[in-house]
Amino acid sequence: MAEVRCTVCGRPPVDRYVVSAHGEATCARHPADASCALCGRPRHGGEPGWTRFTSATGRCPTCTRQGVDGQDEARRHIPVVRAEMAALGIRLDRRVRVTLVEPDSINAGSPSLCLGRTVQRLWVGTSQVDVLGIEIARGLTATHFGATVAHEIGHAWLAERGARNLPPPLEEGVCELFSGAWLKRRGTALARRLRRIALDSPDPVYGAGFRMVRDAVVSHGIAAVLDSVCARGRLP
Ligand SMILES: [Zn+2]
Ligand SMILES: [Zn+2]
Ligand SMILES: [Zn+2]
Repeated sequence: MAEVRCTVCGRPPVDRYVVSAHGEATCARHPADASCALCGRPRHGGEPGWTRFTSATGRCPTCTRQGVDGQDEARRHIPVVRAEMAALGIRLDRRVRVTLVEPDSINAGSPSLCLGRTVQRLWVGTSQVDVLGIEIARGLTATHFGATVAHEIGHAWLAERGARNLPPPLEEGVCELFSGAWLKRRGTALARRLRRIALDSPDPVYGAGFRMVRDAVVSHGIAAVLDSVCARGRLP
């Protein structure tokens, strides 16, 4: 295994240090003025190679190098993610368009960082829901991008199957389960860490929802869980 070196001083870190989702280490003693929105690496003032993510957050040099910044690049990744989701048994009957949007446009007023959203049209007085499209924040790493597309395909899939008005921890938990399954399949060190971070998240909707749905899958199997969610709006 290669020796770990600090992103700031270049020496093997001693005492306390922070490890990012990429596995990069930064000594805790270097003063940091921010951390990467995607991998958590601390930013040491003036360090080159950092780029903007939202107006309030930035990306480290490693996340910037892996960034899916343009629609053409997104278009190369999307069919691969769709095929990988299909291999996991999650297929959309109708193809849903995936577009890159400015991260600020999906982060107005939300306390935690939102990386994607599914735009749906609800017909008043009927049970019909149309999925209009999936929006993904511009500038994610390919791994964050795939995990976010997999999560949003989950929302579109639930809407197609008529699972409406689910409690938020159940809806987000199912989508985090899909995202986690995609990350597990991807199998890289970054993907493994992102799945671990999602499973350990203290968020009462995303983290708690993921753990609740994951536990139900361990007890009952994936098919029984998804059948129960779609038919009855609850876990078996
Ligand atoms: Zn250092
Ligand atoms: Zn980063
Ligand atoms: Zn969601």
